[in-house]
Amino acid sequence: MTDPVHRADVVVVGAGVIGTAVFHELAARGARVTLVERDRAGLGTTAFSGGIVRCYHDDPVLSDRAAAGWRCFRDFSEHTGEPAAFHTSGFLYVPAPERAAAARAEAARLGGELPVTWLEAEEVTKRFGHLLAAPATTGAVWEPESGWLDPAEVTRGFLRAGRRRGGTVLEGVAVHSPLRSADGRIAGVRTTSGAVRADRVVLAAGADTPRLLAGWGLAHDLWAQAVQVELYRPDAPALGQPAFTDDEFDVNGRPDPDSGGVYVGHPTGARLASPPGREPVDAAQSQLAAAAGARRWGWLPDSRHLGGLRAAECWAPDGRARVAAHPDEPALLLATGFNGGGFKMAPWAAVEIARLTGLA
Ligand SMILES: Cc1cc2nc3c(=O)[nH]c(=O)nc-3n(C[C@H](O)[C@H](O)[C@H](O)COP(=O)(O)OP(=O)(O)OC[C@H]3O[C@@H](n4cnc5c(N)ncnc54)[C@H](O)[C@@H]3O)c2cc1C
Repeated sequence: MTDPVHRADVVVVGAGVIGTAVFHELAARGARVTLVERDRAGLGTTAFSGGIVRCYHDDPVLSDRAAAGWRCFRDFSEHTGEPAAFHTSGFLYVPAPERAAAARAEAARLGGELPVTWLEAEEVTKRFGHLLAAPATTGAVWEPESGWLDPAEVTRGFLRAGRRRGGTVLEGVAVHSPLRSADGRIAGVRTTSGAVRADRVVLAAGADTPRLLAGWGLAHDLWAQAVQVELYRPDAPALGQPAFTDDEFDVNGRPDPDSGGVYVGHPTGARLASPPGREPVDAAQSQLAAAAGARRWGWLPDSRHLGGLRAAECWAPDGRARVAAHPDEPALLLATGFNGGGFKMAPWAAVEIARLTGLA
């Protein structure tokens, strides 16, 4: 076994929003934690994220995880001691018509404890009619206190807070293989600047995770998939535009006050060949997003397309992420597979990893 250059209780691989949230949580709970990032922190998929934080999901398990994220992000500076502005744009969820009754019931459940309400169709039109091309005929979920944060601010905040609590950050250092003990079990990682021995390894390498696991000979059911969003600037300002997910027309997005525009995303369904790299924007996908977005938002056809953002994200088949020990390697904890929605889930994932390491 290579002599360790470093000893930690936990080594976290990857400094996106997930890895830095885990790093901070474990350091705050007194663990000796080392975060290893091959590049600079926060320059992976997280740098492309819309940073939308909302509670409602079709799946109550995901709603509860997202609500934990919302609570943390609303009080980010109380939680970390670092600033990160929460931009309260409100969040509107339009269900697919056949899911409207279930959405109404889930909104009622969440509304018992959180600022989540159900708006009847007339109320949606009253509040948002000036923005809509098509009315939300079945009603919608409304979260007046949800919105978005700047992912760079959040990642830096978690990183600084974790360092202040004694954590170590190795940037510009890539992990290439697991370090194994005499009995063959994972006992750390080998990196481009030596080994880090640790009781637990947290793999938070985002879209690189499937490739890393395969390279280490470990079974998995994950894949990398492209996420793409477009930025449109309406001719006339879209006043009162909320962040949104629309399952009737398959679009999502949020306002962007910096450009006076609105981000609009539409699922790509594009699995990526491994290894994923920086993804060029796909013009055909931009057109699909424009067409889908124009079905809901009346301002979209009279907008200027300011460009798109596209990045690779780690996907898991059941939509419930992989924040769990690897079935064959109990010391290896996965923290990935968020299917395009991991930003808001980072605080939940961090506490879940603390629980799995016996710290929570
Ligand atoms: C365009 C877009 C918009 C999105 N909008 C939202 C949104 O509004 N709300 C939301 O909740 N989610 C959103 N998401 C999803 C969210 O951004 C991701 O789920 C989240 O950023 C994933 O974070 P991560 O830490 O897992 O991955 P990453 O940010 O990719 O971090 C992984 C890190 O691991 C590092 N790494 C990889 N391999 C190694 C190695 N071998 N050694 C060391 N380091 C390594 C990488 O360099 C990288 O920094 C969006 C995604 C995209 C692409």
